[in-house]
Amino acid sequence: MKREKNIRERLWEEATGHCIYCGKPVSLEEMEADHIVPLCLGGDNDYENKVCSCPRCNARKAGQSLEEFLRDNMGKTKRKRFSNRINHLAEQGKMSWEKAERLDPYTEDLFDEDWNEDWDDVWDEEPNGLPSNGIRISGEIFLEFL
Ligand SMILES: [Zn+2]
Repeated sequence: MKREKNIRERLWEEATGHCIYCGKPVSLEEMEADHIVPLCLGGDNDYENKVCSCPRCNARKAGQSLEEFLRDNMGKTKRKRFSNRINHLAEQGKMSWEKAERLDPYTEDLFDEDWNEDWDDVWDEEPNGLPSNGIRISGEIFLEFL
């Protein structure tokens, strides 16, 4: 299963050792490769359809579509933080824009009058690079989870 391990490592590094959905730090050992579009809904096994998820979020999402999962598990503020995480990873070159857009295609209706500009500052403070031990908090935004 060497190939699967490589994919897991790549996904984990892509998400800088954090769950894509809730932002909580997750170790390489406990992370799960979540299918953005579930297999039961026609998703494929390509790298671009997989993300690093914590077991809790992966279990919650299960066979739901991404849209259903986001609607049922994240309020507006969490959606904005999620959107910021995704865009930040893409801007840093860790995640492809293709995957970022697959994960976060509904951004435009989020950025309205109650957008909190402080989140931009949080991102500016995040150190570059991967967490050294996989569980170190690398940004305040990751402290906010479900
Ligand atoms: Zn999670």
